[in-house]
Amino acid sequence: MPELAEVEVARRNVASWWEGEAAAEVRLLDAKVLKRGSERELEEAMLRPLVAMRRRGKYLWAELEGGHAVMFHFRMTGKITCETTPQPRFARLAWRVNKAGWLTFKDSRRLGHVEVLSPGELERYDALLRMGKEPHDISAAELREAASAGRQLKSALLDQSVVAGVGNIAISELFWRLQLPPEVRCGELSSLQWQALAEEMPRYFDEVIARSMADEIAYMNEAGGENIFEVYGRKGEACPRCEAAIERVKVAGRSTYFCPACQPPVNA
Ligand SMILES: [Zn+2]
Repeated sequence: MPELAEVEVARRNVASWWEGEAAAEVRLLDAKVLKRGSERELEEAMLRPLVAMRRRGKYLWAELEGGHAVMFHFRMTGKITCETTPQPRFARLAWRVNKAGWLTFKDSRRLGHVEVLSPGELERYDALLRMGKEPHDISAAELREAASAGRQLKSALLDQSVVAGVGNIAISELFWRLQLPPEVRCGELSSLQWQALAEEMPRYFDEVIARSMADEIAYMNEAGGENIFEVYGRKGEACPRCEAAIERVKVAGRSTYFCPACQPPVNA
């Protein structure tokens, strides 16, 4: 599942391939990929000049002239690549731009989808209306305010209405960097820790974006996908800080990787 950093990498790539142009041709190769709007609406929208590729949290969309938008949901294995032919393996939707070739929405597991939005619909898009601030924009005070004290910090950060784009991988990495135990509750953080969290979030995402700039998203569970993280997915390996063995625990229903030595429970 792509998190903020992967979606931002995709946004920058697609913008560089597509910007300043209208698609010359659109081919919907798998009707199942289109979850909202008709094929005709999709084509009408995508044949308009691109205004900008936009991202909020984990959401990515193309803004097209006249207020039309096309939203891309990658889910588990979706990605947009730049190809020389319109029908590479797993292609669901392809559109040709003169500068770069065929931009292709590929998805081996077919869980991702595309939505076409008419003018005015983006402004009423529920998930965007409910979304919290971006990690780069939120202050420590706003973060603390948005997360309720009795709640586990992990569950608060996964809640996209608290802060946008933070996912399960980012949480393991941030907690390790800040030496927070995986089950810490919001009410247990000091002001200094809230400050450190608000500062570390944008730094973390900037680093992951810089490390993962490549022409396509490389999901870690795919062949050739490499683990660029310090603790995530590294159960049993040595902690990069103290060399204790990394452990894995389920918090808020999902795996958190942590170092039991660097991230001891609050009351220990
Ligand atoms: Zn450690």
